[in-house]
Amino acid sequence: MIFERRRFGKDNYLYLLAEGGDAALVDPADPETALALVRRIGIHPRWIVHTHGHADHSGGSARLREEFSAEVIGHGADAGWFRPDRDLAGAEFLELGALRIRVHEAPGHTPGSVLLEWRGRLLTGDTLFWSGCGNCRHGGDPVRLAATFRTVFPGLDPRLEVHPGHDYAEANLAFVLGLEPGNQAAAGRLSAVRASRAAGLEPEATELGEEALVNPFLRAGGDGPFIDLRGRRDRT
Ligand SMILES: [Zn+2]
Repeated sequence: MIFERRRFGKDNYLYLLAEGGDAALVDPADPETALALVRRIGIHPRWIVHTHGHADHSGGSARLREEFSAEVIGHGADAGWFRPDRDLAGAEFLELGALRIRVHEAPGHTPGSVLLEWRGRLLTGDTLFWSGCGNCRHGGDPVRLAATFRTVFPGLDPRLEVHPGHDYAEANLAFVLGLEPGNQAAAGRLSAVRASRAAGLEPEATELGEEALVNPFLRAGGDGPFIDLRGRRDRT
């Protein structure tokens, strides 16, 4: 079993999942980073899976699809951004050779956002970040995102490791501590994230249960979006 996460650009992450010789890349928007990873491991990914359609996640798939004769898999509701060979809509499980990935539809950041659960890990794309959640500025819907946080995450195993599509942890934790100045878990997490980054390491993944302590979006209730967006002047 192989599970690898690689940073590209400033804060993007791509992932490699493999079971025996069966391998899938998740959101490999930077082909060079993805190619370096699979060459180092010596594996041939036959599948490219997208958590959602935005170009900083799906932009590398056309080249890698050609390079590996790989199948591109994602939710058809995001097909305006990329062309999936296989549509994840309505799929509960994704069987890729020996890889068996559970799929959770999680609309909101985009209409076709999904969470991918595999071997105790939850790949959350831009739906859930460490200490934050995705925005809705590019084809998203805050009411649907709020519904995802209220209905999808509470049904998941709290021991799942959270592996997001970006590392925004430091900025998000500053926001959380502004909102909840007495949140000791958030203060501790910020220190740990800063120490990891200062040492040239990636932040440790949180478990979903502990993530809820440092992520107010996992604790939001009510029937509407978390904040009233009416009359808000959006930054574009
Ligand atoms: Zn996105």
